[in-house]
Amino acid sequence: MSTIKRTGTRELGPTGRPLPRLPEPRTLHRHGPARVIAMCNQKGGVGKTTTTINLGASLAEYGRKVLLVDFDPQGALSVGLGVNPMKIDKTIYNALMEKRVSADDVLLKTNVVGMDLLPSNIDLSAAEVQLVGEVAREQTLKRIIDPVLDDYDIVLIDCQPSLGLLTINALTAAHGVIVPLECEFFSLRGVALLIQTIDKVKERLNPQLELEGILATMYDGRTLHGREVLARVVEAFGDKVFHTVISRTVRFPDATVAGEPITRFDPASTGAGSYRELAKEVLERWRQAERAGPVRAG
Ligand code: ADP
Ligand code: MG
Repeated sequence: MSTIKRTGTRELGPTGRPLPRLPEPRTLHRHGPARVIAMCNQKGGVGKTTTTINLGASLAEYGRKVLLVDFDPQGALSVGLGVNPMKIDKTIYNALMEKRVSADDVLLKTNVVGMDLLPSNIDLSAAEVQLVGEVAREQTLKRIIDPVLDDYDIVLIDCQPSLGLLTINALTAAHGVIVPLECEFFSLRGVALLIQTIDKVKERLNPQLELEGILATMYDGRTLHGREVLARVVEAFGDKVFHTVISRTVRFPDATVAGEPITRFDPASTGAGSYRELAKEVLERWRQAERAGPVRAG
């Protein structure tokens, strides 16, 4: 890529830092319990759903058992995996609202081996209102997914673009948060609000919650603007920013239309390669954290 410069023996990545050498993920001989990650940003169109699908598919390629949770009433994650959300009998909404419906009743297999989906559709928008009157309304999603955590290595929750009750449920159920940020426009205030929300949930509802990392998306290294925005993101968040950066390419919308992860739709593309790198980086971060202390390492 044009943005990678060589300095001595170490390559500088697009974030301006030396690129780490990421090892091939180790083979897992047993699975679970899963580490739960919420994909979160109250801004729409930043790559949450695309990252959920493609990070999930890449982790599955590395032998991880993955569960994707569509927690946006728009159902874009379900659609992006070739599911017609209006044609499915039960969605995560039923599991949230009906005592007798469990995650297992709603689970679908995707076209990626080792990756399952809890689908949603527009019904989920009613849950936001209906849950308000419930006791422990913030813990509803956690109650649904906790019983299946032993079956997976990683659960990725695709959040809706808001900081409302559904997103609070996702943050309460999660161990970590990944924040995709588009390299088009950087609003420090917007991210600050998100970080405040994460801190509040950590303090009041979920002490284990960590900001896992910031992912730069829709990057165009050919423009000064793109490079400047990325530099500001790194200035603001330092090592929290993943070394892996997702470039802007039309192959992502194309894959969405095809209802497939890019890793299947165009396995040799740069986009597919980037999400595989991200999967390796995420797994390596967990491996290093696990060395430092107990953590669910996927
Ligand atoms: P969000 O879930 O945050 O709303 P999406 O993942 O749905 O964002 O992405 C919004 C749109 O941008 C989709 O049409 C998607 O296909 C497209 N898109 C996502 N990532 C990229 C990328 N790296 N380059 C180009 N288009 C992308
Ligand atoms: Mg989305």
